[in-house]
Amino acid sequence: MNLPSILGNPIEYLKGVGPVRAELLQKELGIFTFRDLLEHFPYRHVDKTRVNLIREIRPDVEFIQVAGRVTSVNLVGQQRSRRLVAEIRDASGTLELVWFQGIHGVQKLVQVGGDYLVFGRVSFFQGSAQLTHPEIEAYAGPAAERPEHLEPVYPTTEKLKVRGLGGRQLGKLTQTLLGLLKEKDLPENLPESVMTYSDPVSGDPARWISRYEAYRQVHFPVNPGGYQAAVVRLKFEELFLAQVRLGLIKSKRHRSSQGVVFSQVGELFNQFYSRHLPFELTGAQKRVLREIRKDTGTGRQMNRLLQGDVGSGKTIVALLTMLLAVDNGYQACLMAPTEILARQHFEGISALLKDLPLEVRLLTGSSKSKARKEVLEMAREGGLHILIGTHAVLEETVQFRQLGLAIVDEQHRFGVAQRARLWQKAAVPPHVLVMTATPIPRTLAMTAYGDLDYSVMDELPPGRQPISTVHRFEDRRSQVMDFLKHEIGKGRQVYVIFPLIEESEKMDYENLERGYENIKAWFPEPKYWISRVDGRQKAEIRDTNMARFLGGDTQIMVATTVIEVGVNVPNATVMVIESAEKFGLSQLHQLRGRVGRGAEKSFCILLTSPRLGKEARERMNILTETNNGFKIAEKDLELRGPGDIEGTRQSGLLNFKIANIVQDREWLELARERAMELLEKDPELIMEENRELKVFLQTQQGRTAWSKIS
Ligand code: ADP
Ligand code: MG
Repeated sequence: MNLPSILGNPIEYLKGVGPVRAELLQKELGIFTFRDLLEHFPYRHVDKTRVNLIREIRPDVEFIQVAGRVTSVNLVGQQRSRRLVAEIRDASGTLELVWFQGIHGVQKLVQVGGDYLVFGRVSFFQGSAQLTHPEIEAYAGPAAERPEHLEPVYPTTEKLKVRGLGGRQLGKLTQTLLGLLKEKDLPENLPESVMTYSDPVSGDPARWISRYEAYRQVHFPVNPGGYQAAVVRLKFEELFLAQVRLGLIKSKRHRSSQGVVFSQVGELFNQFYSRHLPFELTGAQKRVLREIRKDTGTGRQMNRLLQGDVGSGKTIVALLTMLLAVDNGYQACLMAPTEILARQHFEGISALLKDLPLEVRLLTGSSKSKARKEVLEMAREGGLHILIGTHAVLEETVQFRQLGLAIVDEQHRFGVAQRARLWQKAAVPPHVLVMTATPIPRTLAMTAYGDLDYSVMDELPPGRQPISTVHRFEDRRSQVMDFLKHEIGKGRQVYVIFPLIEESEKMDYENLERGYENIKAWFPEPKYWISRVDGRQKAEIRDTNMARFLGGDTQIMVATTVIEVGVNVPNATVMVIESAEKFGLSQLHQLRGRVGRGAEKSFCILLTSPRLGKEARERMNILTETNNGFKIAEKDLELRGPGDIEGTRQSGLLNFKIANIVQDREWLELARERAMELLEKDPELIMEENRELKVFLQTQQGRTAWSKIS
């Protein structure tokens, strides 16, 4: 029996904390317990014996540590520009230190004539170097420090700094805590079989340092090598545990989940396939259908994620899967994230199925009550075969007689909780197929969706011409407009998209308004007709405008990103994206995917301000270079980090404390490999050698969101 560890103690009871600081630590850093403090890792270490000379400061050094005497401290400026400016002098020169916040606290700490050690990021103001909000502490000279003593520096906040809990001062608390911890408080949780590994870079055999040692050295390393060993050990551990958890969830689902059986490919499927399918399926579409058939024939519930780049033809896969369900006596539903998209699916699918004896209906938030009543009744009584809709389908009033399949299109707009509501619509949970057009890099998918079965459609239907993408500065707008005229002259349609970002909504609407007027001036009626679509319009107006563009009555659509997902107008050949620098890579790729859907050559024009940051420029370059959604997703992940990838944030799955799935890709691969090996041998962790691991996972329950995803 494991005794409760002191790691669970409230942080208040650590020597040097007390109630006031405890409250601050909770509020500012989310540190509630001893364990939280232990897992608040330093972001760097300083070697206090190594001090730079002020003269050595150059624009290309980022951080600097200097020691010297403070010669002046002055409060300057008024109100918002009020700041505290101190000057520090060493043997080689002087340097300015500036604080805008926490002035009061600094004034108390820093005295003219005192000696201080200062560390911070160098910036240049009017040609001279300064440190803004540096860390500062009294300094007794190098002799007072232990040689090669690496002192941890922790993430902190201005509020904490003022209360004496700056980036370095937090280390005093960590030191106190480590003094209390015994080996038994941090027992090894990796099974012996996982303790050894071969280094992914050198291939040499290696062994992790113990967990206890790792926690000590990550805070107070004996040398830089010790720190490295500690960090990789903890990263691996975190990733490995995550993979084991996911693996357990998945294998448990596979073992215990009961699913309806689609035993046969029947009449409807075959008839549609041989007589109504308008094209030959791509190899990828066929493969995915085989995977789905296999899953749905086994008697366990399918829970499959289908990733396919924009335009790869997911809809037809969805349709064929729904026919499979109906052939086996079950109902199917397809959910889309927006009304427009749901309607488009409904119309497209109804048209394809018009010669088959099937009842297909649409249900959205704006369905009239009479029609809604009828649909609900048909669903309940079983006369309805296929229901297409928005999340209105999830409402409790929607009951099926025998739902066998639920398909979610563009799943990023649906949260995990919403997905789970589908499960409850039938006694035996329906098979679930989740389709996404925002490819997720492999590493991310392995973590965020590791419990799902997973298919990729990495092939576009034949005959597609790649979309030519160019980047133009706004001052070339008139050439761009001429180009649009030329395309419209050939009978094509064009999109002009404006960004709409929530925080600056008002300004963006003004931009949209101005942009719309501008386009109207370039393209006057009655020669040209424009559809305007944005999220503020009434649904009917938006739908009418959309329908006019779909039907070819208008040649130009001016819109915000409401059209981002799914809309299919094969005659549209140009996508102009205004202020493209304001969009993320994946979103730009999604928008671009609205063109290139027909046989004609298509174009995407990224308009930006000529003053572009480095990262924005890189985004534009990536888009002009590749049409491959998977490559773009990888780049997006690299540039933005996992926290921002749409749809994964709310899942809480990527909140690693120390690992980073972008930078630590090789450790993630290794962790996954080792976790799978282990679970293959011992799927329920009953072997003696995996006991500690099992106990550890059990005691960790509730500390993460893992268990929520199935
Ligand atoms: P997405 O995967 O983005 O949802 P869609 O299902 O909307 O893509 O398909 C995009 C277009 O490609 C549609 O016009 C569809 O009819 C067409 N399409 C799908 N599969 C094929 C195929 N195998 N051959 C030719 N065209 C196809
Ligand atoms: Mg689609």
